[in-house]
Amino acid sequence: MPELPEVEVTRRSFAERIRGARIIKAVAGKPLRWPLGVAPEALTGLVVQEVGRRGKYLKLQLDEGLLLVHLGMSGSLGFFAQPGEPGPHDHFDLVTTAGTLRLHDPRRFGAVVWSDSEQEDPARKLLARLGVEPLGEDFDAARFHAGLKARKAPIKQVLLSGELVVGVGNIYASEALFMAGIRPTARANSLSRPRAIRLHAAIREVLALAVERGGTTLRDFSNALGETGHFQLDVAVYGLAAQPCRRCGTPIRKILQGQRSTFFCPVCQR
Ligand SMILES: [Zn+2]
Repeated sequence: MPELPEVEVTRRSFAERIRGARIIKAVAGKPLRWPLGVAPEALTGLVVQEVGRRGKYLKLQLDEGLLLVHLGMSGSLGFFAQPGEPGPHDHFDLVTTAGTLRLHDPRRFGAVVWSDSEQEDPARKLLARLGVEPLGEDFDAARFHAGLKARKAPIKQVLLSGELVVGVGNIYASEALFMAGIRPTARANSLSRPRAIRLHAAIREVLALAVERGGTTLRDFSNALGETGHFQLDVAVYGLAAQPCRRCGTPIRKILQGQRSTFFCPVCQR
């Protein structure tokens, strides 16, 4: 599943290129997770002013309205000068004067959704429940700790829920918890203030590093220009069950939490 760093890396790979481009046409393929919410023809002639991001949604701000793009479980965006015919898993094309933005999504859990503005549905509804941005100024250690104290679920589940902070998905939750020396099964409300502060710093560090490195290639991620990331070289625990911990040599353990795989070092993480 593309996580926040991959979405941000995707954004950066085409945002400047598409800025100011005029939409020649939009072509919707098979149904996605949510409907586009407008006739594709209605987008013709609009100008892409800016590409932003909120959580794992890309926001294409147009001169009238906006498009939210979500990559779902298996989606990826390509930005092509000469896109060729859509393949069987290409379900949305935004053809512009600067190139074609194409959503490739074999499992079709992704979506492209139109709204008049962020304050109106469906954008309002989709964005309203999101926690703070992990790399933004609103992600504050003291407030994070207060949020943890109010939750008794295991810390990893709390991170994945997106309620306190968005975009810390399965891989980065495991990595941040390793970096902070915290057992993924620890109750959120049991974390001391120093441990919460360490985790806050670790979340920012692991996500910033992933964005800088171009996202992870664990699941064949590539940005909109087809370039792959190399974060997998730096993964300390994720996907490394039974391999020696890089800090202490103890075999990395794998467990299931809420049907998701969790990896941790039983010695380094308490
Ligand atoms: Zn260890």
